[in-house]
Amino acid sequence: MTTTLELRPLGNTGLKLSCVGFGASPLGNVFGPISEQDASACVREAFRLGINFFDTSPYYGGTLSEKVLGKALKALGVPRNEYIVSTKCGRYIEGFDFSAERVTRSIDESLERLQLNYVDILQCHDIEFGSLDQIVNETIPALQKLKEAGKIRFIGITGLPLGVFTYVLDRVPPGTVDVILSYCHYSVNDSTLEDLLPYLKSKGVGVISASPLSMGLLTECGPPEWHPASPELKAACQAAAAYCKEKGKNISKLSMQYSLSNKDISSVLVGMNSVRQVEENVAAAIELSTAGTDEIALAEIEDILKPVKNQTWPTGIQRS
Ligand code: NAD
Repeated sequence: MTTTLELRPLGNTGLKLSCVGFGASPLGNVFGPISEQDASACVREAFRLGINFFDTSPYYGGTLSEKVLGKALKALGVPRNEYIVSTKCGRYIEGFDFSAERVTRSIDESLERLQLNYVDILQCHDIEFGSLDQIVNETIPALQKLKEAGKIRFIGITGLPLGVFTYVLDRVPPGTVDVILSYCHYSVNDSTLEDLLPYLKSKGVGVISASPLSMGLLTECGPPEWHPASPELKAACQAAAAYCKEKGKNISKLSMQYSLSNKDISSVLVGMNSVRQVEENVAAAIELSTAGTDEIALAEIEDILKPVKNQTWPTGIQRS
């Protein structure tokens, strides 16, 4: 019987990521305040339970997430090759800048904050806010130089609209972009990433899917103030959460299991700001691999969410 967290290969990178990944945006107080001590306890518990993948960005909490994560990882006192770290470039609290000069400087700043000599993956952060041609012709070539310099091992791109991935991947030589990070598109309420998986597989690109709880929509507590979903989508998710609670089920557990069930996704990145959430999300993954999920409850949630299925929100530069 499997009692450890499953490791899944990430495209052609040779990396094996824990199927549950630690999204460190909460360490930048993005989902409410968290003390450095609690943040460190979350990272320690995550690592102890088999999570080996940690994702951050200079944008989260205006560099706070990177600093807190770096300190917590160092405090683990384990060899560097026992954990995988991804960070991002191009998106900052001050705004977007995907120029070669900025992203080249950015990695040095990130490495200093993270107290690391290299990161495993450096991703261009939310590329729909930049010029995709600049990403192809300037940013990614700059990241390739960082790869040669040994500061990063792999190159990734992130964004909300799925079309940005195909735009870039169709225009760079094979093997240039190793990884994509998609978010809010493989959750119970929106599973549109599924259609893109065969294409990504054919390109040998690793897939990370973030926000299985749709950035808080699929939780009992509900989303943060800043959540961009429509009132209709928020209400439907709230109704689904209330239904689960009434039935003695946990919407977050079922949602995690839904997202984890597709093995073409290497890691499901979830943001966690308490040891309890870390334990619950790991337990959800282990339960899925041993006993399976509660198909009936999941079908009931899907039914409640049917009117808003695959509803998303506008982001980035609006292109016609
Ligand atoms: P998420 O869907 O993982 O939801 C996080 C929220 O759910 C937080 O409020 C958290 O406290 C809560 N939560 C977690 N586990 C819970 C549980 N068991 N029960 C109840 N509530 C629980 O959204 P996210 O944090 O935005 O996404 C995860 C990570 O993915 C981020 O931290 C970040 O690393 C990454 N991400 C990247 C991008 C990008 O690159 N553009 C976008 C979104 C997310």
